[in-house]
Amino acid sequence: MRFHVMTLFPEMVEQGIGTSITGKAIGQGTIEVHAVNIRDYTEDRHKKVDDYPYGGGAGMLMQAQPVYDCFQAVKQGIVEQRQNGARDRKENEIEGQTGSGLRVVYMTPQGRTFTQQMAEEFSREEDLVILCGHYEGIDERVLEEIVTDYVSIGDFVLTGGELPAMVMIDAVSRLVPGVLHNELSAEVESFHKHLLEFPQYSRPENWHGKEVPKVLLSGNHKMIEEWRLEQSVERTKERRPDLYRKYERLIKCVDWLWKDKLLHMDMIEVIRRGQAELFYSGKDGVLLRDKKSQVCFLTAVSEEAGRKILTEYMPKQIKPEFFVVHQEYLCPLLEEVYGMQSGCACYQAVYTRNVTLRADKSVEIRPLLDDRMEEFLNSCESLGERAYLEERFKSGTVCGAFIKGEIAGFIGIHAQGSMGLLFVKEAFRRRGIASALETEMINRMLALGWLPYAQISIENSEPLALQKKLGLRISDKRLYWYQNK
Ligand code: SAM
Repeated sequence: MRFHVMTLFPEMVEQGIGTSITGKAIGQGTIEVHAVNIRDYTEDRHKKVDDYPYGGGAGMLMQAQPVYDCFQAVKQGIVEQRQNGARDRKENEIEGQTGSGLRVVYMTPQGRTFTQQMAEEFSREEDLVILCGHYEGIDERVLEEIVTDYVSIGDFVLTGGELPAMVMIDAVSRLVPGVLHNELSAEVESFHKHLLEFPQYSRPENWHGKEVPKVLLSGNHKMIEEWRLEQSVERTKERRPDLYRKYERLIKCVDWLWKDKLLHMDMIEVIRRGQAELFYSGKDGVLLRDKKSQVCFLTAVSEEAGRKILTEYMPKQIKPEFFVVHQEYLCPLLEEVYGMQSGCACYQAVYTRNVTLRADKSVEIRPLLDDRMEEFLNSCESLGERAYLEERFKSGTVCGAFIKGEIAGFIGIHAQGSMGLLFVKEAFRRRGIASALETEMINRMLALGWLPYAQISIENSEPLALQKKLGLRISDKRLYWYQNK
């Protein structure tokens, strides 16, 4: 991902972002931060970029011309970079509402307050342009022409937009696949599950007469998890009652879905892993979207209930690319409302036992690093579009099975959370590699507190035998995947 920061103080941004984890991500090329000096674009002989505001008032205002010309140069640079980077991409791809299709964020105390959800949204952009104001702000006319988003970092006024820009870049960067190298590590933190993080302790065990809670020294992971959840709940109730209300609503929703857990495990896991945007939940059904993959999910007790939920509660601006419905009678609705056709029917295979499986020691399985990406993309091209497979690889969840140093097969996690991307090379088939790979993935997911599940197309029921062998339970009902082509 590339950040383009338009500022009068580029060195401030470069120095701030160039250290620690963001600095490392820049070094590795996972993110790029280009700080562009607006002053370089002024037509004023004395390099002036500000002037008095019409109508009087305190302070100076940044003028429209340098900001506008700076933006044009940034935009041009992005177009060229994209053309160079992907010649096969259509040139008009970044045409759009503002004439650029780019997200251009103006950091301003008058904007929407920055949230984790906005960070997630921005992290899906390829380029993000950020405009920093200074003095008393910027001439309104240029803002009207180039800005798509007005974002504040809180109800206070700073001297410039550079610190807010850095705050935003930091929060967005750590969600970019590859920055923390493993998407699994960003999962269990505050806000992800509408709960604040539990208290943490490091050495020594006794400091200023205060003992580390005994349970943390017990080595009993189950008890530690329970204690941490309890602490998170208490802390959230006390410090952020607004978040706690959201959490309570999700818990009720999971309880309802749990009544048919084999059919609903995909939705349950989106909620449990803290990725759900809940649009509706009641006794007659649930409608939600996975913030990570953008896949929408609907389950309803009847066609009538599904129709009501979809037409009344689905935000109108959302045009889903993928939709999963959990009853056959909801399929015609997707065609009617979104023109989606011919869904793929699947069974859901769920690993419901909370015990790890015995690993096959004869196969070495480990997460793959960047140098193996091409091999993965070439071997698995039948499993999905290249860009999707690349994104999955960069998320750090793809593992490889090694036989005498050679990769025999792969497994990964789909963006919405199911196990998948299972592929064994021809020469290594019928040697238990698929079973070893899935065993490893189940154990990894369990270690994260996830409930492992997979979705198996009814047209290719061959993998069902493997699922059953590993102890996964298969739903007797089907769910239906739709894609808007
Ligand atoms: N006169 C402006 C107003 O009342 O909206 C405030 C200007 S402020 C002194 C100068 C610049 O700092 C702004 O243009 C903006 O880029 C940045 N800024 C100040 N506070 C901010 C905040 N809370 N969030 C984001 N940006 C902020």
